[in-house]
Amino acid sequence: MPIERTLSILKPDATARNLTGKINAVLEEKGLRIVAQKRLRLSRRQAEAFYAVHRERSFFGELVEYMVSGPVVVQVLEGENAVAYHRDIMGATNPANAAPGTIRKLFGESIERNAVHGSDSPENAEKEIRFFFSDIEIVAA
Ligand code: ADP
Ligand code: MG
Repeated sequence: MPIERTLSILKPDATARNLTGKINAVLEEKGLRIVAQKRLRLSRRQAEAFYAVHRERSFFGELVEYMVSGPVVVQVLEGENAVAYHRDIMGATNPANAAPGTIRKLFGESIERNAVHGSDSPENAEKEIRFFFSDIEIVAA
């Protein structure tokens, strides 16, 4: 399987509850490597741009408010089939529907406050990684 990179975000509910280490322990135990990482606060403009695909959805305004409500950790994960594999490890968008052992089942609070983001395709992963990182910030093993 191809080695891929994907964008991971530890969302404001995760940083607020001091869960960044626990979530990253799951990702690393499952074999994904964190090859870039930074903690930041999204501006409203950045959050709107990042989630532009959802701008017509009813929850868009709330989603943006939530994403700017506290710090996030953005990171690049690397591994075999990393995009789809990371989505499996994250679990379903709604923690109530997420499989046992997934990050959203373990740590998600609600369909909105669901602890983590992960790119949903290799094309989007490329775009989302570029949104936050330059080449010199990504350091492979
Ligand atoms: P995913 O993060 O699993 O790819 P989506 O791309 O559909 O899910 O949605 C992006 C984010 O918007 C979700 O992770 C969640 O934080 C929020 N969200 C999705 N659906 C809802 C909803 N029905 N109500 C409130 N927030 C939602
Ligand atoms: Mg999505």
